[in-house]
Amino acid sequence: MPQQFCASSGGKYAVNTGVFAKYLLPKLVQKGAAKRCNLDIGRSSQLAGKVSALLALFACLGLSACDWAKADPIAPKAAEVPEVLFSLFGELQQSATLVGKTEPMAHIDAAGISTTADASGMFVFGLDRDAPETAIISVTTIDGRTLSKTYHIEKREYRVSVVNGLPPATINPPPEAMAKIQRDSAIKQQAFHSQDTEMKGFATQFRWPLENVRVTSPWGAQRSLNGALQRPHYGIDLGGTTGTPILAPAQGKVVLAQSGMHFEGAMVGIDHGQGLITNYLHMSKIDVAVGQIVSAGDKIGEIGAEGRATGPHLCWRMRWRGRQLDPSKMVAPLQPAGMIGAAQ
Ligand SMILES: [Zn+2]
Repeated sequence: MPQQFCASSGGKYAVNTGVFAKYLLPKLVQKGAAKRCNLDIGRSSQLAGKVSALLALFACLGLSACDWAKADPIAPKAAEVPEVLFSLFGELQQSATLVGKTEPMAHIDAAGISTTADASGMFVFGLDRDAPETAIISVTTIDGRTLSKTYHIEKREYRVSVVNGLPPATINPPPEAMAKIQRDSAIKQQAFHSQDTEMKGFATQFRWPLENVRVTSPWGAQRSLNGALQRPHYGIDLGGTTGTPILAPAQGKVVLAQSGMHFEGAMVGIDHGQGLITNYLHMSKIDVAVGQIVSAGDKIGEIGAEGRATGPHLCWRMRWRGRQLDPSKMVAPLQPAGMIGAAQ
C-alpha cells in the first residue's frame, strides 16, 4: 500500500511521491485544491525562487488534501490507486519455469531472486529442483506500488538412476585433470551469468532439440555412478546416434560454445532472455559461436559421446540464475498457473 495518511486535523500529510505525482496531484488540481490554496506559482517563483515555490505548493496541497478528503463525499479511496496486476504461466512445481506478465520494468522478487520485467512487462523465473513448498512472488511497479503473493509449490518425486561403466577418470578425476576442470568451470560460470535483455525466446513454447525424442534418463534423478551416490542429474538425457542434428528449442543468444571439456565434452549454452539458459552436453560437433543469435529449429551441433558419457546421447539442461530447471517443462504449452493478482 502507498503511504498515505492525514495524521491530524493539523493537516500533516505524507504520501508516496510516485503515486502522488501520477494519481493524486491531477485529482487535486482537478478538484480545485490548488486554487483554494490561492497560490500563484509564477508569482511565487519570482518572489521566492523555484525551489521554495515548489515546497510551498506541496505544503499547501498537503493541507488542502486533508481538508478536501474529509469534506468531499467522493474523496479518492485507496482502491482508486490502480491495482498491481500480474499473471503467471507454467507449473507451480519444483524444477518448473514460470513466465509472468505485469507492468513494464517492474521489479520482481521471485522466491528470493530479483529480476526485472522487460519493456512489455514480461518476465521469467525458475523454481529449483528442491524448491521449498511455498514461494513468495512480489511485484513492485516503477511508481512504488507493490503486490506480494504466496504460492504452494508442488513437490516432485525423483527416481534413483544407476549408471555403471563410466570412464573412472570422469568420476574421480586424476590430479592432472584438475587444471582443465577449473578452466572449464570458469568458462561455464561466465556463461551462466548471462542475463540477456533482448532475447524473447523465454516467452515462447519450446520445441524438443531433436527431431526424434527418446528419453533415456529422466531429469533430476538422484544418481549412483559406478556404484557411488553423486549429485542429482540436472539434465534430461535423449538418445540418438553420433552426428544426429541438435536444434535450438527457441530463440536465443549463444553464450557458450566450448569443446573438449572434461565432464561435458563439447558444450553449447543459449540464453533465451533474462538468464534462462539451456545447455547441450557431450556434443561431437558445434555449429554455432558465442554471440550468435539462433531461432527455434536452427541446428546448433551434433550428438556425441564426449566427456562423462557411456555412449552417444544429448544431455539437455536448463538453468535460471543458478537454479536447476527441467527444460522439458517448456516444451508443453504453458498454462495459466497463478491468479491475476490484485492489490490489498
Ligand atoms: Zn545427462
